[in-house]
Amino acid sequence: MDHHLCQPCSSIAAGVGRKAALGVSLARALGEGVFSAVSDVPFGESLTRDVHTSDGKAYLLLVEPLKVDERTLGMIAIFKDVSAFKAQDATKTEFVTTVSHELRSPLTLMEGYAKILRLAGNLNDQQETYLNNIITGLDEMRSLVQNLLDLGRLDSNDALEIKSVPVEDIVRRVVETMDSQAKNKNIELDVSLPDEPLMVEADAAFLVQALKNLVDNAIKYSSNKGRINLKAQKQGEAVVLTVEDFGPGIAPLDQRKIFKRFYHAESQVGVEERSGSGLGLAIVKSIAERHGGKVWFESKLGRGSSFYLQIPLKQSKKSD
Ligand code: ADP
Repeated sequence: MDHHLCQPCSSIAAGVGRKAALGVSLARALGEGVFSAVSDVPFGESLTRDVHTSDGKAYLLLVEPLKVDERTLGMIAIFKDVSAFKAQDATKTEFVTTVSHELRSPLTLMEGYAKILRLAGNLNDQQETYLNNIITGLDEMRSLVQNLLDLGRLDSNDALEIKSVPVEDIVRRVVETMDSQAKNKNIELDVSLPDEPLMVEADAAFLVQALKNLVDNAIKYSSNKGRINLKAQKQGEAVVLTVEDFGPGIAPLDQRKIFKRFYHAESQVGVEERSGSGLGLAIVKSIAERHGGKVWFESKLGRGSSFYLQIPLKQSKKSD
């Protein structure tokens, strides 16, 4: 990148005094950690990113091109010190993760006993219904606990297990896990893969989970005997995984909120029973962002929705 910012001005914006900035290289005035975060931003592009420096500080970096009459004259970079918020957030995440972890053992115990209850003697119809309700409730709790643990891992700065994996394998693993759920609703899963084998650098388990959550929603919100299209294609230096359904769609008012944690749309035509923790899409978003990618969707009420998950084929060191 050309460093079009005037050095003293940019240093003052970064909280460095004018005297300390004059005659000193931009890297020295700003500090190596902060400088390297802006040095690879392509000239003329906007960007928002978290920056962690070696002295333990966290900044929110906002970069915008400075344009006059369509001409880009330079770049403005704003660093907001968010260290205190990040520390609070880490404490909250740690608390939620500890509680979720502690809940796993009693849940396993309860599930085990509930399942062997039938072996202890015959149950009448009413008892059988109650037992099934208990097992369903325990299943939901287990998946909520697992979702909270996954979000905790994604929120923490723990490194992802990045490996080069064939996109085809990711799609195949998702189809294998979701097949019976689709068949139960008589839903056809139509898969389309790139013509050439395509490799992506990713944490395979997380990428499978992100795609699985999208397919799970597509099945959950589609009516019986529907169709879902699952497509993987190369777009530039990224793979885009698309999950298209022909379900109820998402109301404009809900569209801005569906990636929020614990959010469920108020009411959806054709969706009788609500299940799920409201964490599925939040997890997809975190997984996409931890890989330096993104997730977005298009939806029309009554027509269906398409969710797009874009993951760069190569991981830069910064995103893990
Ligand atoms: P959950 O499915 O557990 O409620 P998610 O985070 O996966 O939570 O989704 C949040 C909300 O977004 C859902 O409650 C639903 O209202 C809406 N939604 C997600 N995917 C779809 C879809 N494919 N079709 C319609 N609505 C959807």
